[in-house]
Amino acid sequence: MKNSSLLLTLIILLSTSNFVAADSCNQVIEGNDMLQFNLKEMVVSSSCSEITVTLKHTGAMPANVMGHNWVLTNTADFMPVATAGGGAGLGNNYVPVNDARVIAASAVIGGGAETSVTFSGALLSVGGDYTFFCSFPGHYMIMKGSFVVRD
Ligand code: ZN
Repeated sequence: MKNSSLLLTLIILLSTSNFVAADSCNQVIEGNDMLQFNLKEMVVSSSCSEITVTLKHTGAMPANVMGHNWVLTNTADFMPVATAGGGAGLGNNYVPVNDARVIAASAVIGGGAETSVTFSGALLSVGGDYTFFCSFPGHYMIMKGSFVVRD
């Protein structure tokens, strides 16, 4: 009797953690006309084979004035990639072309638009130091946060 209730508890715990893990593979983040993301930290599970980040621009300003994208790099690469991205221009979504330091990057969108980017979880490691940011020129100073991978 005692063993079977223990087993039941274990099954419930496992199902719960599986549910949370699967859920974390799909992330939603919002940007606005005030140069802000609504998240300072995003947490995904190391069990995600693929991660999809959906970016919603809740503002009204056009992409060439207040465009936002979502870019992921190692924290050590964040500043150089953000700087190179500014030089790459809107036509390249402010992301340096063929740059291996870019783990993932979405398109630049304007107010009212939505975009998403999907990338392999195999590109990330538990305990890695990752930063997400908007690479529109000047935005990365404020529009950035930590991207955390947990077991
Ligand atoms: Zn931006």
